[in-house]
This record gives sequence, C-alpha cells and structure tokens, in this order.
Amino acid sequence: MQIDGFPENARIIAIANQKGGVGKTTTSVNLAAALGRNFKTLLVDLDPQGNASTGLGVPYDARNEGTYAALAGENEAINLTMPTNVPHLDILPASNDLAGTEMALANDEHRLTRLKDALDPLRKYYGAIIIDCPPSLGLLTVNALNAADRVLVPLQCEFFALEGLAQLLHSIDRIQQSINPRLALAGILLTMYDRRNRLSTEVLEETRNNFGSLVFRTLIPRNVRIPEAQSHGMPVTLHDSSSTGAGAYRRLAAELIARVKEDDLP
Ligand code: ADP
Ligand code: MG
Repeated sequence: MQIDGFPENARIIAIANQKGGVGKTTTSVNLAAALGRNFKTLLVDLDPQGNASTGLGVPYDARNEGTYAALAGENEAINLTMPTNVPHLDILPASNDLAGTEMALANDEHRLTRLKDALDPLRKYYGAIIIDCPPSLGLLTVNALNAADRVLVPLQCEFFALEGLAQLLHSIDRIQQSINPRLALAGILLTMYDRRNRLSTEVLEETRNNFGSLVFRTLIPRNVRIPEAQSHGMPVTLHDSSSTGAGAYRRLAAELIARVKEDDLP
C-alpha cells in the first residue's frame, strides 16, 4: 500500500530527548499509528521501560526478546517484529533484558551500530520506522542516532524546556560528522501545549525565535484523551479519532512526510 508518502525504502526516524516525560513515547506511538494510515510502519521500542509496547497493547508476557535480541545479534529483527491492533503498524517490543545492553555489548567492537545493522534489512518492508528512545544519551540512544535518517526532538512546554537541548544537538552533530553522515534534525516538536497557559506560549515563542522553521508548525496540545488512550493500550487516533490529540498527531504525520520527502534522501 503506497499512498503519497515516502518511497518504498523506509525512512528511519528516532524520537529522542534525554529528558524524561517530554512526550517521546506518546509521540512515537501516536505518530507511528498516524503514519500507519499512509503506509506500513514499524515502531521500535528502545526504552527498557517498554512504555511504547504497553501503550500499543502488547503486555509484558506477550512480548518476545525484541530489541535486545536484535541488538545482541541473537535473532534477526525480521523474526522479532509483532503485529499490533493498529492497522499497518508493527512493533519490535522491548524486553527487560534491554536494560543490560551496555554490559552485554561492552566488549563488542560494533556496539555503536548494532541497531543500524539490525534495522537496515527491514527498510524494504516498511514506509517508516520510528524509534522510541530512552531518556538518556547512552549507548541505546547512540545506536538509535546511528541507525536513523532523521531525529525528531519533542520538547515539553514547561519551564526549562530548552535546557539540555544544546547537549542533544551537539550529540547529533558529533554522530553526523562521524558514524552517520546522513543524520539530520527532522524538527523540534512542542508537546503538552496549552494555549491558555502563559508559560506554554512563552516556550513556543522562545523555541521559534531560536530555531525558526526547525520547529514543527503542528503543536501537540495537552489532551486528556492521550493518557486515557495509553491506559487502554491504544493510540489516541484509534481511541478517540475526533479528539484534538488525534487530530494533532495526524497533522504531525502529514507535516513530517512533507518535510522528509522534500529532503529527498538517497
Ligand atoms: P517520555 O517518553 O518522554 O518519558 P511520555 O510520552 O511517556 O514521555 O509522556 C510523559 C507523560 O505525559 C505520560 O504520562 C503521558 O501520558 C503524558 N502526556 C504526554 N503527552 C501528553 C499530551 N499531549 N497531553 C496529556 N498528557 C500527555
Ligand atoms: Mg518514554
């Protein structure tokens, strides 16, 4: 099914920010579900907490060894992807073992590119591959940035939103200049935006002043339907497709497709 989207070779997009609670997992799940309306999409759960797997209704005891086995080279990623209840959306789930990746790969000379090696062969099966990163700049996130074509950075509309962003952008630059020259910023996404809250509008203004068109036009509003959907193990686009949250994630998907298409990757 190829609808006006990316070419058949999947774009790999990492959702990263070393801060916790900024909306990485929420964005990964809902963006992946919204992209699934256009083409087959894979969500890679790279956070040992496994919230993306839970948020897509894959309970702990139903998961295989997932991303850990793919990183450790114990199994090929193609054997580890699982269908979800969302049309055209598969998941590579996170198991508990993922927390031990740094130790397990400590002496592996290819440890920085294990995820890239695992995901590249999957590109031909999907239109997009979304990676939900853990809240750190450790080995797992470095693997995600080495595997990705683009990074999407969610920022929560709160005090200190921009704190830590310079460090993240520096890491992206370093990786772009060393291991992964095709890596670039897809954009900065403001999440949990509340237009009635002055702090939200200040963060929006400050981010746009600093980063201009790198900031997505789409704002993700604070919307109770979003956590509600998560508690039911489904994306908000399925739970309540008419909610403001669902609409925002559909617009984000369209904006991302337009941006990445313009970039015309090799
Ligand atoms: P991260 O993955 O960066 O740690 P999460 O996506 O888990 O962040 O989001 C942190 C918390 O904020 C979760 O409880 C989630 O349900 C809630 N949340 C995220 N986005 C929204 C939103 N747009 N509206 C309301 N709650 C949200
Ligand atoms: Mg998360």
